[in-house]
Amino acid sequence: MTTTAKYIFVTGGVTSSLGKGIIAASLAKLLQAQGYRVTIQKLDPYINVDPGTLNPYEHGECYVTEDGAETDLDLGHYERFLNVPTSQANNVTTGRIYQSVIQKERRGEFLGKTVQVVPHITDEIKERIQLLGKSGDYDIIITEIGGTVGDIESLPYVEAVRQLRWDLGEDNGIVIHLTLVPYLAAAGELKTKPTQHSVKTLMESGVQADILVCRTEHDLPYDLRRKLALFCNVREEAVIQSIDASTIYDVPNLMLEEGLDKVVLKKLGLQSSTPDITKWNQFLTRHKNPKTEITIGLIGKYVELQDSYKSILEAFIHAGAENEVKVNIESVHSEYLNEDNIQLKLAHLDGVLVAPGFGERGIEGKIDAVRYVRENNVPFFGICLGMQMAVIEFARNVLGLKDADSTEMSPETKNPVIGLMEDQKTITDKGGTMRLGSWDCDLKIGSAVRDIYKAESIKERHRHRYEFNGKYKQQMEAAGLVATGLNPDTGLVEIVEIPSHPWFVGVQYHPEYKSTVANPHPLFVAFVKAALNYKKKKSSVRMAQN
Ligand code: GLN
Repeated sequence: MTTTAKYIFVTGGVTSSLGKGIIAASLAKLLQAQGYRVTIQKLDPYINVDPGTLNPYEHGECYVTEDGAETDLDLGHYERFLNVPTSQANNVTTGRIYQSVIQKERRGEFLGKTVQVVPHITDEIKERIQLLGKSGDYDIIITEIGGTVGDIESLPYVEAVRQLRWDLGEDNGIVIHLTLVPYLAAAGELKTKPTQHSVKTLMESGVQADILVCRTEHDLPYDLRRKLALFCNVREEAVIQSIDASTIYDVPNLMLEEGLDKVVLKKLGLQSSTPDITKWNQFLTRHKNPKTEITIGLIGKYVELQDSYKSILEAFIHAGAENEVKVNIESVHSEYLNEDNIQLKLAHLDGVLVAPGFGERGIEGKIDAVRYVRENNVPFFGICLGMQMAVIEFARNVLGLKDADSTEMSPETKNPVIGLMEDQKTITDKGGTMRLGSWDCDLKIGSAVRDIYKAESIKERHRHRYEFNGKYKQQMEAAGLVATGLNPDTGLVEIVEIPSHPWFVGVQYHPEYKSTVANPHPLFVAFVKAALNYKKKKSSVRMAQN
């Protein structure tokens, strides 16, 4: 077999949530900073064809790529760290693998044969793993295997890795195993046994880890590293500690200190040099040394879990660093917001973002929040459902269309200011049927967004079914809510603004997916700046009053 790309497989042991995605992205960053073309792929062992149909409570945010794939949120980390777009090929699930094998079976591609997990499912997995390598666009592919070794559903993936290492040859495919070294407070000791067991479980499937990355709350002493190397059959230099960090953006530097990139490149038979991460470190310095702080209210219905609005939270980190301000995010549960408590819950905020979402729950609270910020000149940023709520609020309270609504929440409304497009009306399947991926948008001359983007037209990523209803455009514009971003082919309204308001922008797309460390998103940067200005103005008014 001829192959030019090299493969790094990342498996996980002991427990989930150890941060495989961040380790993979950090390693990729260090390799990219030495001139290698790197991409990362995530293999998810669940049966959903994609995470688009999963509730954010279950699996965190669904991340959308340029080509319209609904993917695992780890792809967001890959893009934010590497500043290189990913695609459908970067995320594969068991559902997708089986779907493809079953379709082949129906087409008669295996005619006469019994279709089995080995070799048919494993062959399909191997093919998907090598797709990115064969494109010729990359020197190194990092493939992260979701779940934990020992899980029933991970087995075919581990088996595919075992086979691939033979197919590829020794220095073309290596395995990094991420485990946990827990600290037992009562004994005052770090424990290696779970790692030993996890490496053993991996070996039962015929896969020997080349490198151990050990997640820990305390520094691993030399003796313990030596013990791990001895018992787990790896070199001492290949025992890497991954100590808890205050920010995920510290992890590339921590891995650099531990020499993860060096061990990896040596194992792959590739040259190593000193990675140039000057720009990355400039970002970190700004992030860690803010001159002031602001508080933004994030109005949503998934407020308990960090992962539900992952890309939005990260975009604020990028935009905060750019403005040299610390952005505190205060989650506000839209279900518990109403006209009576709105002042109490929002008055202290420097800006309000109304989040994306689906379904009816919590939407009246979002509409009340928009009314409050519109009337009180508080900077407002509405994303997807948040933009739709701004349109509904304007229709109800400015145009006086009291029953204005989205047909998503109220199919029979007399004033469907947000509604389905004709070609969506006949679709009944839920998976992969939304307006997805990157779409062009022309920006209106003289608009705030044209100034913010410093461009005449942009491309942004979408994930929604419902749209601004063009029939109301003229009426809204006459009253002060202007459509400032339009799709050049369909005329669909992608952005609304209120020019008489200090900062009121609603976007039908998801700008958060495109914010990276190297390229903080201009809308988030401008929104944070507006919130900062608003805060300054508030305090100068207060001082004048005293
Ligand atoms: N539920 C809305 C729609 O489908 C908004 C979706 C979103 O916020 N991503 O149009």
